[in-house]
Amino acid sequence: MESTPTQTANRPIEKKPFETETFDVMDGAARWEIKVHDHGLVALVDVMPRLCPVGKTADYAIVQAARVSYGEGTKMVNEDRGLIRYLARHRHTTPFEMVEFKFHHCMPIFVARQWIRHRTANVNEYSARYSLVRDRFYRPTPDYIRKQSLTNRQGRDEQLDEGTANEFLAYLDRCEAMYEDYEKLTEKGVAREIARIGLPVNVYTEWYWKIDLHNLLHFLSLRMDPHAQQEIRDYSTAMYDLIKPIVPIAAEAFIDYNLESMHLTRLEIEAIKSGQPINTANKREVAEWDAKKAKLGM
Ligand SMILES: Cc1cc2nc3c(=O)[nH]c(=O)nc-3n(C[C@H](O)[C@H](O)[C@H](O)COP(=O)(O)OP(=O)(O)OC[C@H]3O[C@@H](n4cnc5c(N)ncnc54)[C@H](O)[C@@H]3O)c2cc1C
Repeated sequence: MESTPTQTANRPIEKKPFETETFDVMDGAARWEIKVHDHGLVALVDVMPRLCPVGKTADYAIVQAARVSYGEGTKMVNEDRGLIRYLARHRHTTPFEMVEFKFHHCMPIFVARQWIRHRTANVNEYSARYSLVRDRFYRPTPDYIRKQSLTNRQGRDEQLDEGTANEFLAYLDRCEAMYEDYEKLTEKGVAREIARIGLPVNVYTEWYWKIDLHNLLHFLSLRMDPHAQQEIRDYSTAMYDLIKPIVPIAAEAFIDYNLESMHLTRLEIEAIKSGQPINTANKREVAEWDAKKAKLGM
């Protein structure tokens, strides 16, 4: 049987103007950029919604979506704020997915390795098979070169003595010197995709990264947290600083109800109610409860 071509209806498209005057949430700029460390950057390159009614912020897209479920309601800015904060407190998250951000990031591979575990973004990365890796390596500042923490196996603690810190920097020098070999070998014809495998993980990579606000806030809550590695926290904080003027109400609600809030377990609630120590023999749980009590000034 012969296949028939796809039929299109050729219906006229109605193009309706905005009801009120609008402005560009990025002030007409092509990118907003924050430098991180020695060669890193976080750049915001696009936002949805890019155009907003004058007098609002991109938070309006969250409110607009929520009103589909809650009805028209009021349009006052203060009440928009109340609605967004209500949604954030009650984890009604889908309206936050209506705002999207596209970033350009440049970061060391060891940071990208942690970052890429977040699966809800769309990513397109620099290809070190197609192009030469650029001669850029992350060198931590002295303040970042610290001893292994004795209490947190995934953390740094006090500053190192100068001699050991210098030994560490000499070790980085030797790793970075591998770049010369990499360049020579690629010039001799070794394929870029195999020549790159000798480069250290402090070499920089780049990508475009697009994510909606709900998933970005999930990322930020994990990666701005003190348990995250300081380097990825620095990138996360830069992203927060870039989105804050664009969605100020949602950004504030995130700090209030997520980043600087606290989750209490059933055992912790019982300890508060009874005024007794927490009912567990698990040392880590006891330590976590002590940290929460200190934060609460108990
Ligand atoms: C301080 C810290 C230490 C860490 N240490 C380690 C470590 O030692 N080893 C290690 O391997 N990882 C480690 N991780 C990574 C961690 O386990 C998560 O992989 C990472 O934080 C991404 O979290 P996510 O899955 O919630 O995020 P996303 O991938 O952004 O997903 C967001 C949410 O979407 C949902 N989701 C997405 N994809 C799926 C799916 N396929 N199935 C079900 N639900 C899905 C989940 O609800 C998830 O919470 C660490 C992370 C942090 C912050």
